[in-house]
Amino acid sequence: MIHTPATSQPDKEIMHFAEEHTSSYYAATANRHSSFPRLKGDIRTDVCVIGAGFTGIATALTLAERSFNVCVLEANRVGWGASGRNGGQMIGGISGEQKLLDANPAQADLIWDMHWHGHDIIRSRVERYEIDCDLKHGYVDVAIKPRHVRDLEAAERLLTSRNFPFEHKLLGRDETRDILGTDAYIGALQNMGNGHLHPLNLCVGEAQAAAEQGVQIFEQSAALRVDHGEAVRISTAEGSVTADFVVMAGNAYQVLNKSIRGRFFPVRSYIIATEPLSEEQLDTVNPHDFAICDPNFVLQYFRLSADKRLLFGGRCNYFGDDQEVIKSNLRPRMQKIYPQLQDVGIDYAWGGTIAVPMNRVPQLGRIAPNVFFSNAYSGHGVNVTHVAGEIMADIIGGTAERFDLFSKLRSTRIPGVNRFGNAMVSLGIVYYGLKDKLL
Ligand SMILES: Cc1cc2nc3c(=O)[nH]c(=O)nc-3n(C[C@H](O)[C@H](O)[C@H](O)COP(=O)(O)OP(=O)(O)OC[C@H]3O[C@@H](n4cnc5c(N)ncnc54)[C@H](O)[C@@H]3O)c2cc1C
Repeated sequence: MIHTPATSQPDKEIMHFAEEHTSSYYAATANRHSSFPRLKGDIRTDVCVIGAGFTGIATALTLAERSFNVCVLEANRVGWGASGRNGGQMIGGISGEQKLLDANPAQADLIWDMHWHGHDIIRSRVERYEIDCDLKHGYVDVAIKPRHVRDLEAAERLLTSRNFPFEHKLLGRDETRDILGTDAYIGALQNMGNGHLHPLNLCVGEAQAAAEQGVQIFEQSAALRVDHGEAVRISTAEGSVTADFVVMAGNAYQVLNKSIRGRFFPVRSYIIATEPLSEEQLDTVNPHDFAICDPNFVLQYFRLSADKRLLFGGRCNYFGDDQEVIKSNLRPRMQKIYPQLQDVGIDYAWGGTIAVPMNRVPQLGRIAPNVFFSNAYSGHGVNVTHVAGEIMADIIGGTAERFDLFSKLRSTRIPGVNRFGNAMVSLGIVYYGLKDKLL
């Protein structure tokens, strides 16, 4: 268990308070904007969830489906964090999965099930609650070097040996070029079980579903203080919640517990969205509408939006939000893959923070007998947050099987990361960027 003081209060200097979403394509094209009230006054509930991203909303919705009384406190807006800003790539797998397998060798089947289970949850919620989030199947892992091809061959063998129910196949250099419209890759693994979606519309749609199931959601209601005890008291600026259980779901934006925050690197990732592509451009730029991700440590990912813009994401050695800086960093990388987009306009640029632990394994644990946390999924949060929501609901209901797979792994504290995180990440990018080039 991570040590926690009797009372937790955030460092307000690094706590983010915003009335609105970041300047993303997703915010500009959201079906609807959430407008949940601020918490005013004192309420009593079974479970209080802190943070309304995928983790928090998935936890709350699962608990409500199991008849718990739940409230969610969100400092900003539903989906304001990474959940409303990400690449929208619904990728199978858990970050750091091999370490999880090494620590739990007898649970290989359970881990394989979790590898894909987030997709099932998303698909079933989209269908059950009629969430319009442009969910589309089709994903391509690309290879840049021969060793990547060997990795993809091993991944394909695993899918086959596990009877993976969706179509999947290896592509040679020519087929990859034909399918993606670029010469940048020497091979690929196409997987029709993965896919892509509009993440903010998914998150807000799930929040709406949770509210319809009785979850009380409060926006602009940061948890500013947590008093631990048999009943936990969580205070906001204008009210308080007393709860039997608390789930901390602030991920990279979590500031209430320094010890949790000190166990992951806050890595920024950025995305640009072009103007809608013409029919002519769409003939050669990802004409089959796959989500695509490369295998580098400092990786690049891209896909088309429903209105046919290219959304292109990757790292910049930059920590701010200046759209022009983001565009000038990412445009050349996009053009290296699609030179035919040299003159295309870029309408949106934004960034968000990813929590990346040292061992890459998501961190699920507790800081008190009745206070749980789940965070640090690296770049695999779209699916894994949905599994995590179920695992949080399980542990509150008294079932620890999947929770224990994660909680028994020791997470390393990273000295100095609370103060020097950005500098450490910059150095890491240089190091891993070199590794990508040289190995
Ligand atoms: C640019 C980018 C691209 C990405 N691309 C992909 C991708 O393509 N595929 C993929 O699988 N993953 C991707 N990820 C990762 C994925 O988005 C995250 O892992 C996932 O969204 C984490 O969800 P979360 O709910 O845990 O955290 P978040 O979505 O960050 O939500 C945390 C919420 O907690 C709130 N909060 C924090 N502290 C408090 C407090 N004290 N009181 C109240 N509220 C609080 C914050 O305001 C925030 O809304 C990407 C991430 C980024 C940033």
